Amino acid sequence: MPLPQRFLTSVLLRREGELFLFDCGEGTQISLKKLNLKWKKISAIFISHTHADHVTGLPGILMLSSQVEREEPLYIYGPPRIKEYIEASIDVLDMYINYEIIVEEIGGAGAVHTRPGYEVRSFPLRHSKPCVGYVVEEELRPGIFFPEKALAKGVARGPLWSQLQNGSPVQNDRGEQVLPADVMGPKRPGSKFSFVTDTQYLDSVAGNVKDSDLFICEGMFTEELAESALEKKHLTAKQAATMAQDAEVKSMGLIHYSPRYTSKELDILLREAKEIFPNSFLTRERQIIEIQNQD
Ligand SMILES: [Zn+2]
Ligand SMILES: [Zn+2]
Repeated sequence: MPLPQRFLTSVLLRREGELFLFDCGEGTQISLKKLNLKWKKISAIFISHTHADHVTGLPGILMLSSQVEREEPLYIYGPPRIKEYIEASIDVLDMYINYEIIVEEIGGAGAVHTRPGYEVRSFPLRHSKPCVGYVVEEELRPGIFFPEKALAKGVARGPLWSQLQNGSPVQNDRGEQVLPADVMGPKRPGSKFSFVTDTQYLDSVAGNVKDSDLFICEGMFTEELAESALEKKHLTAKQAATMAQDAEVKSMGLIHYSPRYTSKELDILLREAKEIFPNSFLTRERQIIEIQNQD
């Protein structure tokens, strides 16, 4: 349930000016408004499952998105019945929508949203109703360009350098062909972001979120309540940390805390997580986290 200082689960991801929303609990609109972003142009919304605490913010977001002009459709992905929920909301609430909404129901593992430069994939979680996790993974980035190698190969500084950097072979001043690989290092990984909530502990999660730069994961309970977590099909902070450790992610932010914990008591969740995975942190309302490209 939402608390006065703690809203329900939602994560906004910005990549090269494009916005993606992961889950949309009640009150998400207020947070977005306070962030002062141009959030009415979200490109795609990814829903983990249709429990109320993850979707009740959606109708408001859809309605308010109609306050701006947009040409591009809004894509919404989620497990079965997400379409029914959106269509019923639009119908019963007489929502005025001035843009196209494309809803795709997804089953489990696979690519759900592929665009130049990146791909969003889903994978199955185990909860009391169909639920999926998501990863956003960028394509490999070009390797580092070495000017001294280009000069040694007889390619003078100028437009030929950018052609090489863009992956095209060029001719040097002796009329010989110079390949990008002659003057550039190996391709480098892009960024990887992953989002996992709500689920019981599952070994398969680590493989899916492997090497993420940022892993946002449910950490609902302390170890003391591990049994009840399993029964309700939720994670403890320690289990989230175990997944982070197995997946060798760069950092993990806990989310989806049980309302039983006061803000102070959340430190126990963090302590338990850090014992397993030191690079853990507690996510907070409107916290902004920069995802650094790994080199
Ligand atoms: Zn749930
Ligand atoms: Zn939940």
